[in-house]
Amino acid sequence: MSIPRELQSLGRVVEGASLKDHTTFKIGGPARFLYRADSADAMVQALQAAARAELPQLVLGEGSNVLIADAGFPGLVILDRNTALDIDGTTVTCGGGLKTMELLQRCADRGLGGMEFMAGIPGTVGAAVRGNAGAWGKGFGELCNQVTCFLGGAVAQLRPADLQFAYRYSILRQKPGIVLAVKIVLAKRPAEQVAREAADIVQKRNERIPPDPSIGSIFKNIDLKTAHLDEAKLCQALDATAEEFHAKTKFGKLPVGFLTERLGLRGMRIGGAQLSKQHGNIIINPECTATADEVAQLIAFIKTRIRNQTGIQLQEEIQYAGF
Ligand SMILES: Cc1cc2nc3c(=O)[nH]c(=O)nc-3n(C[C@H](O)[C@H](O)[C@H](O)COP(=O)(O)OP(=O)(O)OC[C@H]3O[C@@H](n4cnc5c(N)ncnc54)[C@H](O)[C@@H]3O)c2cc1C
Repeated sequence: MSIPRELQSLGRVVEGASLKDHTTFKIGGPARFLYRADSADAMVQALQAAARAELPQLVLGEGSNVLIADAGFPGLVILDRNTALDIDGTTVTCGGGLKTMELLQRCADRGLGGMEFMAGIPGTVGAAVRGNAGAWGKGFGELCNQVTCFLGGAVAQLRPADLQFAYRYSILRQKPGIVLAVKIVLAKRPAEQVAREAADIVQKRNERIPPDPSIGSIFKNIDLKTAHLDEAKLCQALDATAEEFHAKTKFGKLPVGFLTERLGLRGMRIGGAQLSKQHGNIIINPECTATADEVAQLIAFIKTRIRNQTGIQLQEEIQYAGF
């Protein structure tokens, strides 16, 4: 194998590098080609070069939401390390590769708050836009004012309405657009107040989220507004009282963890992959021995079991790459 002519001008393209260490799951085979882009220009050049070489492309941020196949990825993997940051009053412009936790910290240091709900969520700004990452009923999309994307072969400026943000969704989950830069607007807040609130949130998360390697919640929680569930039948299938059901669904979503708990799926294991006992929507790789195939089998098993016993068809929140 050799590096295609179209990629050679990028420099520093590596062949066959393992992707395990580029994901929080510690799972995944090799990238046919791997390139680290340190700026928006480098991102665009890499995307254009891959298109010219007719190679599939995969942009990776922190790899905290992606299951990479054991066979790896058969094209160009671009590590987004475009970490530019510019703060002008309450307007903040940052590169797609900046970690959201670093953004939160650096804005807090400048007396800016409003994204404390993102505290403890791993990952980069670009992926947070794409999947409208968030917690506590809020999403990163709410902060966005303008998003610069590489879309359809050109750089485009998108407004929040263009991105159609919804629960763990933006239009970029359907269109192959890559986030180059994001402009967000924050509010003036004392640094200590932001730090205190963020630390409280991280502590609450640490009580719920297992420390083992994972890619966060595997499935989207079920939106009660759109799911049209028969509550009585569901309570019967779950052997749960109406009170228990209402206590779990008070934010308008039915947590997948409640389903896996009631159906006795927590702790279930296939090979090295295990559905966490602590959080019933997170698959962990406790000994770092799980294969992507084992995780995919466990996902399929959970989906089938839940569909057969409740009629609910779960949808993945995570992304698959190389499958
Ligand atoms: C322990 C743990 C807890 C988590 N908790 C939460 C939570 O509370 N809320 C939540 O929303 N998520 C959570 N997640 C999931 C994850 O943190 C988010 O989905 C995060 O936004 C992923 O960022 P990333 O940079 O790691 O993306 P990656 O995993 O690298 O990529 C995810 C997807 O985004 C694409 N992508 C990456 N960069 C770009 C870009 N610049 N432009 C366009 N697309 C891009 C990738 O191609 C891929 O399809 C958790 C994950 C873990 C491991």
